Amino acid sequence: FGFKGCQKIRGPQIRSLLEAKDFFLFDCDGVIWHGENAITGAAKVVNALIRHGKNVVFVTNNSTRPRENYVHKFSRLGFTDVMLEQIFSSSYCSALYLRDVVKICGQVFVIGCEGLRRELQEAGIPCLEETDDPDATIYDCALAPDVKAVLVGHDDKLTFLKLAKASCYLKDPDCLFLATDNDPWHPLSSGRILPGSGSLTAALEVASGRKATVIGKPSRFMFECISSQFRGVDPAQCLMVGDRLETDMLFGSNCGLDTMLTLTGVSQIEEAQEYRNSDLSTNHSLVPDYVVDTIADFLPAFEE
Ligand code: PLP
Ligand code: CA
Repeated sequence: FGFKGCQKIRGPQIRSLLEAKDFFLFDCDGVIWHGENAITGAAKVVNALIRHGKNVVFVTNNSTRPRENYVHKFSRLGFTDVMLEQIFSSSYCSALYLRDVVKICGQVFVIGCEGLRRELQEAGIPCLEETDDPDATIYDCALAPDVKAVLVGHDDKLTFLKLAKASCYLKDPDCLFLATDNDPWHPLSSGRILPGSGSLTAALEVASGRKATVIGKPSRFMFECISSQFRGVDPAQCLMVGDRLETDMLFGSNCGLDTMLTLTGVSQIEEAQEYRNSDLSTNHSLVPDYVVDTIADFLPAFEE
């Protein structure tokens, strides 16, 4: 395409791009919805792509919910045709990683929400049950002898004791250190922000002197999960659509996919242009191939 390279594209260009690609990967928050509100027109776009025989998958770094919850959320918000098989969350992919790549024998110490535990349980991975007395301290609590991985995700019930225990488990060099994602923060509709799992992982990296293996975007592993479940996915036929340069665009570049930034979320076009104009070549992997104001800009392409 002559129009590739951090450019806003419209009408006929969007139409020819949608015709050329047959596999669409959508980030969720900031692209498909903001929290509990669907982005205007997004459901129509997703439904139309599916009706036109395109493959559509959702790639979210949000580790807090099991995939079934996303199926319900999609349906509640008017995305009528989305199925479990189309949903790739960082918690689901973390479970696949522990089961299929690491083939873990032993327990996993989880910092995270119930949804993360549920995904691990569904994959048959034993998680350490947390039954801490609220007044317990690291001086008097027991540590399990067979913890073979620490997995850090978003945890809104994080305690100092959990961080302390995780740091102790990580003293064993055979204990793996995994993070569902490395997102620094998330925007809330009120203008406030929520610290992301990346901030918890950073605390543990300092305490343990180790680096976590990140499963979610921008790591390639989520694309490997998709490729293993959809036969014959050709990166050249894929478009990765996201709202965050440091996760979604870098993920697309890391996996050899064309990338599109939508301006309904975290990143602005000016930041993309700064990365494009930067002398540092590693910054170029964060530059989207295409930019749209919203994925609702796809809609005219489906009109005859
Ligand atoms: N993790 C948490 C806890 C979140 O709240 C969010 C977004 O709201 C995300 C991750 C990012 O999700 P996504 O990758 O769909 O933008
Ligand atoms: Ca997002």
